[in-house]
Amino acid sequence: MELFAAPDLPEIRPGHDIAALIRERVDLRPDDVVCVASTVVSKAEGRSADRTDFPAGPRAREIASNIAATTGEELPPWFAQAVLEESVEVLLETPFLLTETRFGHIGVNAGIDRSNVPEADLLLLPKQPSESAARIRDGLPADRVIVTDTCGRPFRHGQRGVAIGWAGLSPGRDWRGETDRDGRELDITVENVADELAAAANLLAGEGDGGTPVVVVRDFEWGDHAESDAHFREVETDVVRRAIRAWTNRE
Ligand code: GDP
Ligand code: MN
Ligand code: MN
Repeated sequence: MELFAAPDLPEIRPGHDIAALIRERVDLRPDDVVCVASTVVSKAEGRSADRTDFPAGPRAREIASNIAATTGEELPPWFAQAVLEESVEVLLETPFLLTETRFGHIGVNAGIDRSNVPEADLLLLPKQPSESAARIRDGLPADRVIVTDTCGRPFRHGQRGVAIGWAGLSPGRDWRGETDRDGRELDITVENVADELAAAANLLAGEGDGGTPVVVVRDFEWGDHAESDAHFREVETDVVRRAIRAWTNRE
């Protein structure tokens, strides 16, 4: 397989047609996977905002002062308010705000970015990244689109790219029922290919001023496996999330 970044993309503004910008720069093939950083999807969808859009309520002010008291770090109350408004559940409110977004993704600060956002205080994630992925895909000769974000992971230092939206593919490749090299049947392995491709794309996209938010994955072999559409865990089967709930006395 081969990965390359789409060259010379401009600073993305509200209303920009991301698919058209990609089409003008890359001669895409149907089986390419086009990975797009959520940052530019959000910019095109007008998801940048200012602190004045989020006057802090009592809960946001309480969270901000808890974080300041436990970590010494200043989280602006308007920022906490924006996170709360983007979230359907708060998992942790200190030492950082960990929440679930409306579309099922769990991340620090609801994935709201304050970097690579000129002329605005913050950038919210796309409202429904899989719908964004489908719209971009509709404008491309490529069959598959992944919307990515850079996220931290529990248990490990450092961040990496993950898929927060997708179109034209199933995130999971299900190896169950196939055999290992000893002929033993695999009984638990579902590989999240969408996350793996997002991580590979993120490697090229970078985090700084590279200006390379779109990465094309070419000649990836999907193989002949069952597919799984499961991506974000449901709370019923998520032991880590339930442990956090128990620990924070909400269950
Ligand atoms: P995120 O991972 O989706 O939060 O996005 P990042 O802020 O990490 O940016 C990923 C890549 O996209 C980096 O190479 C940035 O320089 C680039 N980038 C961000 N915004 C723009 C933009 O408006 N235009 C272009 N051309 N590149 C951008
Ligand atoms: Mn981000
Ligand atoms: Mn990033």
